[in-house]
Amino acid sequence: MTFKDLGLSPPLVKAVEEKGYTKPSPIQEKAIPHILAGKDILASAQTGTGKTAGFTLPVLQHLVATRHPKYRPLRVLVLTPTRELAAQVQDNVREYSKYVDIKSAVVFGGVNAKPQIATLRSGVDILVATPGRLLDLHDRKALSFKRIEVLILDEADRMLDMGFVRDINKIISYMPAERQNLMFSATFSNDIKKLASGILRNPVSVETAPQNSTAKKVTHKVYKVDKSKKTEFTIKLIKDGNWNQVLIFTRTKHGANKLTEKLVKAGISAAAIHGNKSQGARTKALKNFKDNSIKILVATDIAARGLDIPLLPHVVNFELPNVPEDYVHRIGRTGRAGAAGEAISLVCSEESEYQSEIEKLLNEKLASTIVAGFEPTDTDPPKRAASQSKGSFGKKNKGGGSQGNKPKSKPHFKGNKPSEPSGRGRSNPPKKKRY
Ligand code: ADP
Ligand code: MG
Repeated sequence: MTFKDLGLSPPLVKAVEEKGYTKPSPIQEKAIPHILAGKDILASAQTGTGKTAGFTLPVLQHLVATRHPKYRPLRVLVLTPTRELAAQVQDNVREYSKYVDIKSAVVFGGVNAKPQIATLRSGVDILVATPGRLLDLHDRKALSFKRIEVLILDEADRMLDMGFVRDINKIISYMPAERQNLMFSATFSNDIKKLASGILRNPVSVETAPQNSTAKKVTHKVYKVDKSKKTEFTIKLIKDGNWNQVLIFTRTKHGANKLTEKLVKAGISAAAIHGNKSQGARTKALKNFKDNSIKILVATDIAARGLDIPLLPHVVNFELPNVPEDYVHRIGRTGRAGAAGEAISLVCSEESEYQSEIEKLLNEKLASTIVAGFEPTDTDPPKRAASQSKGSFGKKNKGGGSQGNKPKSKPHFKGNKPSEPSGRGRSNPPKKKRY
């Protein structure tokens, strides 16, 4: 199967060939014919399997085939959860549309709106956007959704997590009912299926891997490490392994800053990327990381979704995510497009429960290692259980609901609350997570 066999026109085929793609990926092979046929789709595939080209190529083909010779109304909208992802998707759109007369643009918050407004005025066929800024621009009459023919939701589950549902519904309310809808994601929860049923019409489901599975060539490793020794251990890993490009996830923005500082002090070039950084600093950190001028990028979950950092050999979870699906997304940053990768997690005692949840989701045990000198000593949960059993000595738990060694209250960072303060909201501030 070739891109040409899928029915794509020569200028599009030429553009992907220039990118070095020799054949369509499985998700592309499955999704492209349906999209060309004008169908709505709900597509799920492992991260790093080429979903972006999967929706961009057929949509470009449609735009070219039906382009008005004089007018250039906005006809395709791609919504993404984060600014970085929006920028990256538009980079791809621009590359794939190199040999066709289609204009694309990207808009997101955190940067001056004026140039965005000017670009929109000059005529754009396909716009990639984050929901907040898009609605701002719509309120300012910088664009219209009246001629939208195709709506694409990329990383739809993250948009749900981030509380964008109301924004999405508002945006949709301005669009013609008659349109094509494409929903892409790496994982599909029941909530996402519910959202999909409200937006998609008779969708074709396209799946290429078992749901929630991780890239096959990724090796998972867990180091049981004392909480207070994680930084020291991370530095040792980087130095001993001679690692040159590592993405490290922390749970909080503060944690990302703290770790970055300590790495830099230890002589390792590093930068942090998270929601409290200015857009300029975020863009710069990602660029420096991609072109190898810094070795380590320390990120909160903002970088976990959709960012394409080619051939990333190592991803480190400095802390395990409190939502098991996020593990899948985080480690989706390694082993991309068939390359091998290593996902390393530093797990202290209070995180062992998250490890079990992740193992359950993956249906796979993660091999755990204890390294001399870094053994966990923070045995918090058993201590508590011991004092509990003392109090109820000789008595069985009522109702058979044995607590075992599990603490009743989960570790402090567990729960549905965003681990970082919510940012400025639009229509639904309390639910919106910023990473
Ligand atoms: P996803 O959205 O599924 O996580 P991306 O669309 O970001 O994945 O693509 C991941 C990487 O694979 C990108 O670097 C992209 O250029 C590359 N890629 C996409 N399609 C192909 C293909 N057919 N052959 C080789 N590489 C591809
Ligand atoms: Mg993607």
